[in-house]
Amino acid sequence: MPKAITPDSEIQALKGVGPKQAEAFRRLGVRTVGDLLRLYPRGYEDRRKLCTIAELVPGEACRFVALVASTPTVARLANRRTVLQFRAVDETGSVRISYFNLPYLKNQIHVGQTYQFYGRVTKNNYGLSMISPEMEPLVGDEAPEGAILPVYPLTAGLSRKQVISAMRAALDACGDNVSEILPPEVLAAHDLADAGSALAELHFPASDEALARARRKIMFEELFLLAAGLALLKNRRAKLSGRRYPPVDDRPLRGLLPFSLTNAQERVIAEGLADLASGRLMNRLVQGDVGSGKTLVGAFLAYHVIQNGDQAAMMAPTEILAAQHYATLEKIFAPLGIRTVLLTGKMPAAARRAALAEIASGEAQMIVGTHALISGGVEFSALGLVICDEQQRFGVAQRAALSAKGCDPHMLVMSATPIPRTLALILYGDLDLSIIDELPPGRQVIDTFLVGQPMRQRVEAFVRKQKAEGHQTYIVCPAIDESDMDELKSVTEYAESIAETVYPDLAVACLHGRMKSAEKDAIMADFVSGKTDVLVSTTVIEVGVDNPNATLVVIENAERFGLSQLHQLRGRVGRGKAKSYCILISAHTDAATKERLGILCKTNDGYEIARKDLELRGPGSFFGQAQSGLPSLRMASLATELPLLHEAQAAANELLAADPTLSASGHTALKAQVEQLFSTDQGNTFN
Ligand code: ADP
Ligand code: MG
Repeated sequence: MPKAITPDSEIQALKGVGPKQAEAFRRLGVRTVGDLLRLYPRGYEDRRKLCTIAELVPGEACRFVALVASTPTVARLANRRTVLQFRAVDETGSVRISYFNLPYLKNQIHVGQTYQFYGRVTKNNYGLSMISPEMEPLVGDEAPEGAILPVYPLTAGLSRKQVISAMRAALDACGDNVSEILPPEVLAAHDLADAGSALAELHFPASDEALARARRKIMFEELFLLAAGLALLKNRRAKLSGRRYPPVDDRPLRGLLPFSLTNAQERVIAEGLADLASGRLMNRLVQGDVGSGKTLVGAFLAYHVIQNGDQAAMMAPTEILAAQHYATLEKIFAPLGIRTVLLTGKMPAAARRAALAEIASGEAQMIVGTHALISGGVEFSALGLVICDEQQRFGVAQRAALSAKGCDPHMLVMSATPIPRTLALILYGDLDLSIIDELPPGRQVIDTFLVGQPMRQRVEAFVRKQKAEGHQTYIVCPAIDESDMDELKSVTEYAESIAETVYPDLAVACLHGRMKSAEKDAIMADFVSGKTDVLVSTTVIEVGVDNPNATLVVIENAERFGLSQLHQLRGRVGRGKAKSYCILISAHTDAATKERLGILCKTNDGYEIARKDLELRGPGSFFGQAQSGLPSLRMASLATELPLLHEAQAAANELLAADPTLSASGHTALKAQVEQLFSTDQGNTFN
């Protein structure tokens, strides 16, 4: 008796899968039969329709039945290649069929026999022809029932036929006993297919409707797991005890500020202080438009922690930003007798050692650095609060790393990406959300213009005018695919060419994401110090960079950017007292582009822009930015499945309300799956 095959069986247990194939499957991440069942099709081929030869449409793939009407001939080509050819006919016409480098097929193809073909036909002066169609002898008179066939990701040593046959074997062997992850009441309430039939129909759908139903179930399940995982994280954290920091008198800090806080800042600080005093662990996201004063909110919370005797750390994504924050915080904390320390990878070894010693001894109270602060071998004396600036999502893994060090600090994440609230609540389902929805008074409006190519000379004159007035300019090139060397070259070449031909009189530098961070920081430092007049850059300047002396940002091919991203880029100017400008250059003159980019010319309100962007482009742009740090989904795309995501989230919340830790006996499989989805190199996130 062969052993029964289960989803946990090694893939080799399937009939027809040998060691070589198993090895190839492993390259696709498939070890077990269960893994194979979860190798989802990339797409489908609709082979239901049976055409006559006359009905074949050049360029389109179709299935047809035809008789081999001529003896296959094999011709030799250059380089030892061969081509085998014959003619296939039905009552309506004929096709020339060719196979390259398969001379032995000659003995397997018989004149006068009928075959079923599937392939893409082309048409030229000599008639119809087809290269390498799939070909099978017809058994009996009738063509077999057509089907929708899956298309799988493949790898060397593994053909589509092999994957399909292994998949069929897997479904036959254990398609019916894949375990259902979602509880029956959820399946019923949301009209979802059961696990077995969803898998079967996903791989070999009987109809379009069956496929849609299978996809819906599988995507729902993924989104449900995601939402449940985030909610579970939040529930867990809500119960984790955090050190209690009662509010202190912060009048000394307020007294140092040359302005009063905005109402929004006050509200968000109060929300954070309530967390700090609650005895529960804070895990809060502060969203606020560019320039809304997030740094200060962080500084207030840090102040309360420090006055309670512990340390606070602020982390920035780049060294340049870390240095900027250090300068800001040092300036307000020094007069209060609070010791602020900067720790970066670039520091000379002696200075770094000294900083590390201060951090370990507790002498350093406010510590500013890059993310290396928590990943490197930094020992804190009593780290009570971590503030993470301009990071969409404080990685689950990073938090685990901190916990592993025995620290469980309160966590504040600050982000300038104005994501509409409904979306933020899902994307950051594990965080509490505070929004700074007000800018400090008197903030200047950045005048924004949309211009076409003919205005280029005037734009150039305007760049020179900034220089004449002692100011600087950013020129942003379209987002390049950082892996594309050709495009990359175009940015540096573009910078060089405008440096030589357009602005020979100005100091032009170029910045892009592929540079080493030390190089980037050096170029930014030159720009901030005023050595550079014009900084040609990719979107790497998008995040938080502060040079108050820059008054103009010119954005090339503006139509290629999302509105929110343009708004972020625009936020690089208007940071000082001088009047600032943004010029969007676009050669596209169609009404839709003009309308979209026109929004930016009309308003400076990031949330208004985000709402419009959501209306015009759908949620994809937001998910793209925010998704990093979330577990990746195999099938569902957060960008396109918004309604289903809402439905799944509501269902997950409902279930968790009844069973907050998923410990009911019927939820074992579900819990295991959620944990697996959220597991990291650091191990189980939920422990
Ligand atoms: P962001 O939210 O983009 O990080 P910052 O914290 O860098 O904004 O603040 C932008 C500028 O606004 C800083 O120069 C800061 O000193 C100033 N600022 C912050 N809060 C206020 C306020 N309440 N009134 C006036 N200026 C403020
Ligand atoms: Mg900031």
